[in-house]
Amino acid sequence: AATAKIIDGKELAASIRANIATEIASLNASHGSFAPHLVVVQVGAREDSSVYVRQKQRAAKEAGMKFTHKDLPADVSQSELLSIVQELNYDYTVHGVIVQLPLPDHLDEKTVTEAVDVRKDVDGFGSGNIGQLAKRDHEPLFEPCTPKGIIALLKHARTEISGKNAVVVGRSNIVGMPVSHLLQAEDATVTVCHSKTKNLAELVSTADILIAAAGKPELIKGDWLKPGCVVIDVGTNAVEDSSKKSGIRWVGDVEFATASQVAGAITPVPGGVGPMTVAMLLWNTLDSAKRFLKGWRRDVEYLK
Ligand code: NAP
Repeated sequence: AATAKIIDGKELAASIRANIATEIASLNASHGSFAPHLVVVQVGAREDSSVYVRQKQRAAKEAGMKFTHKDLPADVSQSELLSIVQELNYDYTVHGVIVQLPLPDHLDEKTVTEAVDVRKDVDGFGSGNIGQLAKRDHEPLFEPCTPKGIIALLKHARTEISGKNAVVVGRSNIVGMPVSHLLQAEDATVTVCHSKTKNLAELVSTADILIAAAGKPELIKGDWLKPGCVVIDVGTNAVEDSSKKSGIRWVGDVEFATASQVAGAITPVPGGVGPMTVAMLLWNTLDSAKRFLKGWRRDVEYLK
């Protein structure tokens, strides 16, 4: 039987979203119907991207935020897209701008993500924010949403981070790399593993805290784990399952059935990290709007 405590991301995300809604309602009352405004730029109509955009839209609306979906044709040119991002940068009624990735092949993701003003980069993917995140004793304006959600889950589960061994499996720009910086900032001793790592099982066995973000279904087995460790499973992998009506089932990067018998606490998939990502996006957008109210508007006008 499973002995690990289940870390419920759905419940934590719901309570964070409720707090955000309360704060927005009071801003609204005190600042003449003011509401934080998030804009998502989507190019083309990839089915998975549309699902993510709708999730963000629903969550933003529920929290009382203004949400604009800029829906651009799949063949929009790089220069048109950049000028739309630039307009959003200058638009003082907008507090958060995200470009839904991946972009079609003819567009350069690096240039486009770097074009978002650092003060509106609520995904936290631009070099301005990532650079601050990587520097010791510096704070970015925005921490990337999934990594920020992971730290919130660890804290919610009352996990001691300082001085602990944290192993991160994955080094992507959106999860593995930024979460390794956040864990270091929390004084963990961090090991980062990737596809060229030779002794993955051995390194995983040293983890007091394991962050699995490889995108490989059930790569990590329960008998690799240190008993009592805390497992945050970011992996969201669809595997075929003929017993399901949809024909698929979602699994993490960690084999839940075996891991939950060894770990002290573990996040489920789905219902762990996933819901936290959207909650953190709202949080970042609210933070941005609060900075705007404190006079950030003047800097934006100065830039024009
Ligand atoms: P990614 O860009 O594909 O990066 C995967 C990372 O894992 C890479 O650094 C890769 O190494 C490493 N890796 C791959 N196979 C490995 C192996 N066998 N052993 C050790 N490391 C290995 O993926 P991502 O965007 O970071 O996402 C990771 C997973 O998290 C995916 O399942 C994704 O769906 C999920 N995700 C969930 C959320 C959420 O909100 N729940 C958000 C983002 C992502 P190299 O660098 O050497 O290639």
